Amino acid sequence: MQDPIVGIDLGTTNSLVAFADARGPRVLGPGRGLVPSVIRIDDGGVVVGERARVERAHHPHTTAASVKRLIGRSAAEVRDAGAPQGLHVVDGPRGLAAVGLADRTLLPQELSAHVLRELARIASVDLGVAVRRAVITVPAYFDDGQRQATRDAARLAGLEVVRIVNEPTAAALAYGIGRGHRAAETVAVFDLGGGTFDVSILSVIPGDGVGLNGEFLQVLATAGDTALGGDDLDAAIASEFLPRYEAWLGGPPTLHGMELLRAAAERAKCALSTNDRATERLAHAHGFFELVLDRDLLEVLAAPFLERMAACCRRALSDAGVPTIDRVVLVGGSTRIPAVRELARRLFGVEPYTALDPDVVVALGAALQAQVLSGGRTDLLLMDVVPLSLGIETAGGAVAKMIVRNSAVPARATEMFSTGVDGQTAIKVHVVQGERELVNDCRSLATFELRGLPPMPAGIPQVQLDFMVDANGVLAVNAVERRSGRRAQVQVVPAYGLTADEVDRMEADSLAHAREDMHAHRVIDLIVNARLDISWIEDARTRAAALLDTAYLEELEGHLTRLKGFMALAERSPGQVDADAFHAAKDALDRASMRLHEAAIVQSLQSMDRGSKGPVQP
Ligand code: ADP
Ligand code: MG
Repeated sequence: MQDPIVGIDLGTTNSLVAFADARGPRVLGPGRGLVPSVIRIDDGGVVVGERARVERAHHPHTTAASVKRLIGRSAAEVRDAGAPQGLHVVDGPRGLAAVGLADRTLLPQELSAHVLRELARIASVDLGVAVRRAVITVPAYFDDGQRQATRDAARLAGLEVVRIVNEPTAAALAYGIGRGHRAAETVAVFDLGGGTFDVSILSVIPGDGVGLNGEFLQVLATAGDTALGGDDLDAAIASEFLPRYEAWLGGPPTLHGMELLRAAAERAKCALSTNDRATERLAHAHGFFELVLDRDLLEVLAAPFLERMAACCRRALSDAGVPTIDRVVLVGGSTRIPAVRELARRLFGVEPYTALDPDVVVALGAALQAQVLSGGRTDLLLMDVVPLSLGIETAGGAVAKMIVRNSAVPARATEMFSTGVDGQTAIKVHVVQGERELVNDCRSLATFELRGLPPMPAGIPQVQLDFMVDANGVLAVNAVERRSGRRAQVQVVPAYGLTADEVDRMEADSLAHAREDMHAHRVIDLIVNARLDISWIEDARTRAAALLDTAYLEELEGHLTRLKGFMALAERSPGQVDADAFHAAKDALDRASMRLHEAAIVQSLQSMDRGSKGPVQP
């Protein structure tokens, strides 16, 4: 690889670096790739990221966080806006806002440079070449001074900034918005991070569909609140529990104790995004303090913040002067909060996009922009058609296709499915993309569960699956069980990273494997059906044995043994098994089991008889 260009999301709370190649955009580095934008500088040197964040409570005077709030601004401006908590703002050269760390005075550019250097290091290790060029994102409202300061930070870190891109624009690019659009549309990007809230209204200018440049997206209006984010909610939760915590401690907590309470509040808040109730324990020398948070309380505490967000959104909408919003993109870790999603849905009147991880969507968009700028992406697929079939996994690892390749978008399909096991209360839906017949040969897109079904015999629940691909190629899958009304849904971006070449290759591959696949699919179906037959037959044979003669039982045993032999072979080496012979063995058992079937009915009638007349068992 020659001199790659990476995409960087330099965030207030977390930063990320991503890279896009023919396989698509991906975040670089270990784990989820989030690098906390926290820097500690002392005589021991510089510590950046997770360690600096975790150890912050122990080194409050030498650790800086949220420096993005100061970059390119004057100290007076920052003080007027209310200096960020936990950051010692001092006057720098020419009245610029600077940070006091123990006896040092540092400009935000210098501090951000440490974060950028760490991201460049992570990228270089991951890609195996020195990374020297980047696309960096900034909030849409950043003025020239703030943009210039961001460039300076990169230069200090030894990085050339190939382009500065607006964060909402990058988020829209990650969803493929602004690519190949025939008609103008408006997009709202709703970004709730750790410390700031930004809402931007973008306009998609109809293009020829080849480029992936920012030019297709124009920022019409932005609004926001630089003192509103997930951290403020953490603080509100912590103060709600403070009186109880004090009473339990028997006095006010130390600074360290406060930090523990705040951290527990944040953990509980994050847990509530997926659960209805969260319990966090704070360990102390004399036992545990328990913080129990439920959705209702969280929503009460969040209400004033939601109201401020709604006001910003209304302002942005009226500034943009657009009648309606066509798409909504969610960005920032705090948009995982269900009440926040609900607010976005209500305000803009459309279901928001949630297919991509809101923490990484800006970085992925920056990486796509970088790829275009490096000339590496001239063959981008247009989502006018679905490039590869979309389907779900069925019993035994086979694929049931829902939307076949080359269907025009928007596309839609509905199918009914049921359960395979008695009393099943959850159904797992595995969404895959590809032309092959088996899940293992397709690309896995997403899995989700439909839970809480009332227990019913196998085959009785009626699960309706809906697949919908919109004009940007975002796939939404809905599952509903019609008897109980239980629902579940998921969104995915199926065309991710597939180039025309790749699609051609996957298609050719599927033709080459078509026969093999048909065979494998058939064998899997046979195994699944044979297993059901065998378990039913063995069960009935135990119950009705007394009504059957030995000769028949022996004949039945012979058929069972033969079928089990085929199953064992099929499971060991599916390619070896003769599917026709396997099928014949299953048919033979089915035919032979007719008598057993009748005997089982007689037997159950007899036992019902006994049940109604006989003595009641204690
Ligand atoms: P920034 O853009 O400011 O760098 P991020 O987008 O990384 O911030 O968001 C960080 C915020 O997201 C933090 O306040 C964190 O508590 C919050 N957050 C992360 N995951 C969740 C979650 N599952 N539920 C609620 N909030 C979350
Ligand atoms: Mg952000």
